Amino acid sequence: MYDKKYLELLSYLYEGVYVVDQQRKIVFWNKGSEEITGYSAEEVTESYCYNNILRHVTEDGKNLCFDGCPLHHTLATGELQEADVFLHHKEGHRIPVKVKSIPIYDSEENIVAAIEVFTDERYKKDTYSENRKLKELLVTDPLTKISNRRYLDFHLESCKKEADEFETTFGLLFFDIDKFKGVNDTYGHDIGDEILKLMSRTISSNIRGDDKVGRWGGEEFIAVIKIDHLGGLEKIANKLRLLVSKSEHKLENDKELRVTVSIGGTLYKPGESLIELVKRADSYMYQAKEKGRNRVIVK
Ligand code: GH3
Ligand code: MG
Ligand code: MG
Repeated sequence: MYDKKYLELLSYLYEGVYVVDQQRKIVFWNKGSEEITGYSAEEVTESYCYNNILRHVTEDGKNLCFDGCPLHHTLATGELQEADVFLHHKEGHRIPVKVKSIPIYDSEENIVAAIEVFTDERYKKDTYSENRKLKELLVTDPLTKISNRRYLDFHLESCKKEADEFETTFGLLFFDIDKFKGVNDTYGHDIGDEILKLMSRTISSNIRGDDKVGRWGGEEFIAVIKIDHLGGLEKIANKLRLLVSKSEHKLENDKELRVTVSIGGTLYKPGESLIELVKRADSYMYQAKEKGRNRVIVK
């Protein structure tokens, strides 16, 4: 009577979705319903929806199970119903939901069941966008607006997992601005900050969508590059090094301020820890400093 695949799909909807047969016996109860109501599928399937489970009430306290049940109406008439009601959570409190009921027909056009879809009205659109903003804040460096270290840690972890699983690798570039202390000392910390922003924009604008750059700390940055050979990684590093050296911050006297970076780069080795990987790239960056700065060491 019900298409199994269709019901499986319903399981993944964020909304609560359940199906009752002609007798209003609950035959399907999805994950969203479990989350919103606190009742598991095990607890409610095979019981009747008017048996004191959800006990929808209206704003003025009318109990819809006995008078005005949307599912009852849909089963009887085939009409779609929509209502704003308050359902009973397993723990006893009331939750505002929008319910919609939809009839299900068999091949002879008889109504054999009804679906109720209910959405948790506590999570209206602005809450979602608020949550999204909060999530963004959590992974964004406030000064440069590129990813922060928390995001880099998370991203590196997932790159490692993928590399281990598919026996591939990825590249890591470690950037440190050359003689940056001198910039702060000469021009002030605020101009130093502007340079950090400028450099972040140059790097993030010149990597591919799959590649990520983030601020590791202070004036150190890490880029995670989807590549499996050192030659290609070195090319990318040199391109970014050159573009940073050609980026300019306009000073008040119309002079242009430029900085250079030293970059260490390496590929992830199967099974190594992320700490080992970052340390290796960092040590190559130091070698680049020792060799005279504004250069790349990738190995
Ligand atoms: P080099 O790396 O070439 O050896 O020399 P350096 O002068 O850049 O040395 P180091 O990397 O040790 O210096 C880091 C400097 O970066 C020190 C600190 O004043 C500056 N710095 C770190 N974080 C910030 C920041 O958020 N804003 C500004 N303006 N400066 C920062
Ligand atoms: Mg440094
Ligand atoms: Mg430095």
